[in-house]
Amino acid sequence: MRSKSLVIKMKKEIRELENEMKKETVLEQLSEKCLHTFGCDLDEATKQQTYRAVCLVVRDILAQQRREFCSQYEKQHAKQVFYMSMEFLVGTSLHNNLYNLGIEEVFEEALHDLSVDLKDLYEIEPDAGLGNGGLGRLASCYMDSMSSMDIPATGFSLRYEFGIFKQKIIDGWQMEFPDNWLEMGDVWLIPRKEDTVEIKFGGKIHEWMEDGKLRVEQYDYTPVLAVPYDMFISGYHSNAVNKLVLWSAKSPNNMDMSAFSRGDYVKAIEQNAMAEAISKVLYPADDHVEGKILRLKQQYLFVSASLQSIVKSHLKHYDSLDSLPEKVAVHINDTHPALCVPELLRILLDDYGYDWDTAWDICQRTLAYTNHTVMSEALERWPEHIFREQLPRIHQLVAEINRRLVNYLNTVYPGDVAKIEYMAVIANNEVRMANLCLACCHKVNGVSKLHSDILTHSIFRDYYNITPEKFTNVTNGIAYRRWLCQSNPRLTEKLKEWIGDGFVKDSTALEGLMKYYDNPQVLEELRKIKQYNKQNLCGYIAKTNGINVDPHSIFDVQIKRLHEYKRQLLNVLNIMHMYCAVKENPNLDIPPRTFVFAAKASAGYFMAKQVIRLIDAVSKMINSDPAVRDKIKVVFLEDYKVSLAEIIIPAADISEQISIAGKEASGTGNMKLMINGAVTLGTLDGANVEIHEQVGDENIFLFGMTAQEVEQLWQKGYNPIEYYNANLELRQVVDMLTSGVLGSRFDDIQKSLLTNAFGAADAYMTLADFDSYVRKQEEVSAAYLDQRRFTNMSLVNIAKAGLFSSDRAVGEYADNIWHVKGVQ
Ligand SMILES: *Cc1c(COP(=O)(O)O)cnc(C)c1O
Repeated sequence: MRSKSLVIKMKKEIRELENEMKKETVLEQLSEKCLHTFGCDLDEATKQQTYRAVCLVVRDILAQQRREFCSQYEKQHAKQVFYMSMEFLVGTSLHNNLYNLGIEEVFEEALHDLSVDLKDLYEIEPDAGLGNGGLGRLASCYMDSMSSMDIPATGFSLRYEFGIFKQKIIDGWQMEFPDNWLEMGDVWLIPRKEDTVEIKFGGKIHEWMEDGKLRVEQYDYTPVLAVPYDMFISGYHSNAVNKLVLWSAKSPNNMDMSAFSRGDYVKAIEQNAMAEAISKVLYPADDHVEGKILRLKQQYLFVSASLQSIVKSHLKHYDSLDSLPEKVAVHINDTHPALCVPELLRILLDDYGYDWDTAWDICQRTLAYTNHTVMSEALERWPEHIFREQLPRIHQLVAEINRRLVNYLNTVYPGDVAKIEYMAVIANNEVRMANLCLACCHKVNGVSKLHSDILTHSIFRDYYNITPEKFTNVTNGIAYRRWLCQSNPRLTEKLKEWIGDGFVKDSTALEGLMKYYDNPQVLEELRKIKQYNKQNLCGYIAKTNGINVDPHSIFDVQIKRLHEYKRQLLNVLNIMHMYCAVKENPNLDIPPRTFVFAAKASAGYFMAKQVIRLIDAVSKMINSDPAVRDKIKVVFLEDYKVSLAEIIIPAADISEQISIAGKEASGTGNMKLMINGAVTLGTLDGANVEIHEQVGDENIFLFGMTAQEVEQLWQKGYNPIEYYNANLELRQVVDMLTSGVLGSRFDDIQKSLLTNAFGAADAYMTLADFDSYVRKQEEVSAAYLDQRRFTNMSLVNIAKAGLFSSDRAVGEYADNIWHVKGVQ
């Protein structure tokens, strides 16, 4: 029997013993950590040292709890999930871990004795920004839910030394600065140097026959080491502690100085730097591919290291890899880890001597793939010569996969050359990663109903027609205990009073709020909470932007990556229209509005950076104009990230989800805002469709073309000039872009909207949806003036948001794709 651990002891104390005792255990642990880590007494520690000591104590608790959890699922031979993702947008962990373990209060009290405010420690923690946007945040939300549901799971990614860049706006221009998060963020990481694995790049392939079997060896390759670092992921009041494993690239060169001549020494350093460059930085492009060799190396390093460690750990508990699909589910989050297909095949064939058919069958039954976008610029395709050079063995296997695939397709689509070429894994000297996943994985899913329909009826139609049973939908979800319970404590407390605390474990219980529909006291309380959160955001805006915002104005927020398809430009054009309307009619009776933007643009995305410059110019023009600034304000908050989202979202009245229909795969920002009582102003795109189904016509502001109408307009031929000519309001704002009144000209934006070069003008149909959007914004103003109506809309949104919990989404993956269960 294992002796009762610290975890159990602390948990017991926390649940059962007197206040004094609990606090004392915490203080004891903190003192010990301070002494051992910094060689100082707890009361002499700096705030930074206290922060680290707190994290280290929490980490120890998690480590112990994880040991118990591991022995539990190993005893039961439970199936495990391995979630492969190039990105995990973790955000901060201290608050989340204390909350999940139910020890926030006792730490707060203990720190209070030291005259330290726990909230101040939260603010010291840097975000772990190992992702760009929605895709990376989804991966983190799913890790949270898997832990809360006691599903044994491991996330795999890279330990980027630099996460998503820090953004500053200087004279309207976005500037990028390195995010050196490890300086403070390393407290959560535990290196496991002894589990380092070797990854082989380049070189040549030697094949020979031995005992009637084909043997293969890669030689003259460049070895790079991958060192794993563990980050624990806690669950809410659960037994599970899972982990995120982040691989760091390291040169195998041990730099024996005496062994090198001067010239070789420099070369050795160079080689070191090249190897270690692999995990140096996260590529900051969202929904867009960068066909860089370094990116391919990142993908292979993390995929190969992860699969090697999965296989090794499986063989520790089972006698062969035959049982891999029964005990292991490997999930491919978008095509970035698509090399899982040939790499697992390679391990089975080359390292364990399986024949092709058996190995392929194991791969199929182990791997599943989620698609995240239908935009062609985001579909990964590698030039075949780069692929062959960097990964010669993997290239051979992909070529063989393709040969067999094309043979098969010739039997189901005989003679249909175009279709077969479209479905091929290699064609036109390119390797297509999505087709690689489609050809192998046993399940393929989209991330909202609409998106999954577009996959099966449009871009993946030909695959769907031959294997319809592979395709499914799992609408995205969010870790609402972070996005509601932790970031909006006032709303959470009131909800507990009104509907009990069941919703903290079961989000569908939020529906209980419906019984307070139109209840004057509840509506009044909801308004007060929103007001408090808006006041809080006002304080942040005053501090960061030096702008005084009216806390009684409508807080209209659009916070997400800056992308043309997301149409921040449509929002700005309406703001310019409102500005003109107030200038022309100073007595115009509209409720005051504050437009809040936050968005990073990919560093090389010219048009996105122009839009940021436009938002900045419009903001300066409006905020400095006494005739307008009491009615409209525009604020751009720098450096959008998880911890900033946690401040903005509880304060939002209106959630802008205005992408051109058919392009936003799901959206998750829409869900975070909804559960905090913001009302969606959006197109019927992504999960907005399902938000609409939940709340009904009365509780959402829908506008614009449907995905089908967008498609039809493309077919017919879209000419933005017709809209420009036909609409005076539109013409006024489009002309304003180059008139000089903005203090600067925006010729490139205007050109992108109007100039019909190769039919590419206004590719996101901003002008076609402009009128519908402006009219809907007028409805928003009118609705807000009726406070009772608007707060009821807000109430319904909170009540109906339960569907969008990542617990529900993970439950669907567990039942329909991974076939795993929570461990009892
Ligand atoms: C949720 C989230 C996103 C995704 O937002 P969308 O509106 O769905 O694009 C991006 N970045 C951060 C920091 C987030 O928290």
